[in-house]
Amino acid sequence: MNIFFDMDYTLIGLTGTLRPLVIETFEQLIDDGHTLYIWSGLGNRSSEVEKLGLSEYIAGVSSKPIDDFEELVKKKFNEGEIDVYPDFVVDDHEEIVSALGGGLIKAFFAGDNYDREMEHMYNIISIYDETGSSDDHAFRPRPLGLYKD
Ligand SMILES: [Mg+2]
Repeated sequence: MNIFFDMDYTLIGLTGTLRPLVIETFEQLIDDGHTLYIWSGLGNRSSEVEKLGLSEYIAGVSSKPIDDFEELVKKKFNEGEIDVYPDFVVDDHEEIVSALGGGLIKAFFAGDNYDREMEHMYNIISIYDETGSSDDHAFRPRPLGLYKD
């Protein structure tokens, strides 16, 4: 699957530090055959992605829509800003996860070295990839016919 990760409070906290298990989870997802992307409501964050040491895991970095999700993703695709549609999004904002399908991750702010939300998302992704669904409370199904018209 093409998995799109949000940046702030999903992968990094308030001070820009990486959330626990990000690297380990990325490695595992890539091992499982997934392709990973990072997008952000603040714009294209490729220089920060690079500084955080994430570039080697990531197939693309782009800006993220903050409303009108389906239409704006289609626009980004048609204009070549993204070259695939997201199959699964991981984000700490309910609206985008509900609109596009994916996992709602608990916001990470700082300092919680025991945070295991990346592992939680990995488990949802694995089960969804295998079965097409998940009964996890943080899973949001992709709406039928998304991006089709
Ligand atoms: Mg966020």
